[in-house]
Parts: sequence; structure tokens; C-alpha cells
Amino acid sequence: MSSAYDPNNIFAKILRGEIPAHKVYEDDAVLAFMDIMPRGDGHTLVIPKLPARNILDIDPAALAQLIQAVQNVALGVKAAMGADGVTIQQFNEPAGGQVVFHIHFHVIPRFEGIPMRPHSGDMAPPEVLAAHAAKIRAVLAN
Ligand code: 5GP
Repeated sequence: MSSAYDPNNIFAKILRGEIPAHKVYEDDAVLAFMDIMPRGDGHTLVIPKLPARNILDIDPAALAQLIQAVQNVALGVKAAMGADGVTIQQFNEPAGGQVVFHIHFHVIPRFEGIPMRPHSGDMAPPEVLAAHAAKIRAVLAN
């Protein structure tokens, strides 16, 4: 059984503006921003604004709205980064690889012949994240 939603998780803090993020898209229901430890250039996270721990507890209608936003962000990220493909990842509970317990989809641009970077725990330089965010934001704004 899943644990309860923790309103002090890091993405809830980003949603409340308590910690900064390189945002690329926002509407009433969703927020998209750069992953701080990108596994590929342009690695973006898409989250709902409502509290949900993961796919096991989110309201199905909210999930439907979220996945539409994921598609939109994937199209924008792919175009902005000039990628050949996109990997979408979504993890549930610690055994499923989840580390941050506010549901999120990973949108990772992929390039022919370039493997995904390992999850090293290295943070990308803020200026690199800012530059990628600016490119993606410009495409998603249109
Ligand atoms: P997951 O829960 O899907 O395994 O991974 C959580 C993701 O959140 C990781 O890819 C990690 O790099 C990212 N992450 C963790 N802390 C922060 C943070 O403070 N800001 C941002 N933008 N991303 C984070």
C-alpha cells in the first residue's frame, strides 16, 4: 500500500515557490521544469499542481490531463532541442525507482547513438539549465 502524500516534498516546494526551478511551461493544472540532474540535455519534468504521490493514487481525470501536458511538452522539448526521439519515464514508490513523491513524468530528449547519462547525482550548471529552459520555453510559448 502507498504511503500518504507528503506536502513537504521538493516538488511541492517548487509549486509553492519556496525553492527555485527553471520553468518551461505552466497552466492552471500543470508545471514543467528542468530536471536538476539531467540524464540528457533538455531533461524536463512535468507535474500536476494537485497533490498526488504517484500513478497509484492520482485521480484518473487529473492523470488524463497530465498525460496530455506530457505529450505537449514532449513535442516542444523535441523541437527545441533538435532531438531525434524522446524517452518518457515515470516511477512509482521506492521499489519502482521513485525518489521524489509528487507524481512526475520525465521527458528526456534523445539523439541517435548517444546513450542516456547515468543517474550520477551530479547537478547541471545553472547556466546550462537556464539556456535549455529558455530554448524550450520559446517553443512551448508558441
Ligand atoms: P524519480 O523520483 O523519478 O526517481 O526522480 C526524481 C527526479 O527529480 C530526479 O531525476 C532528480 O534529478 C530530480 N530532482 C531532485 N531534486 C530536484 C530539485 O530540487 N529540483 C529539480 N528541478 N529536480 C530535482
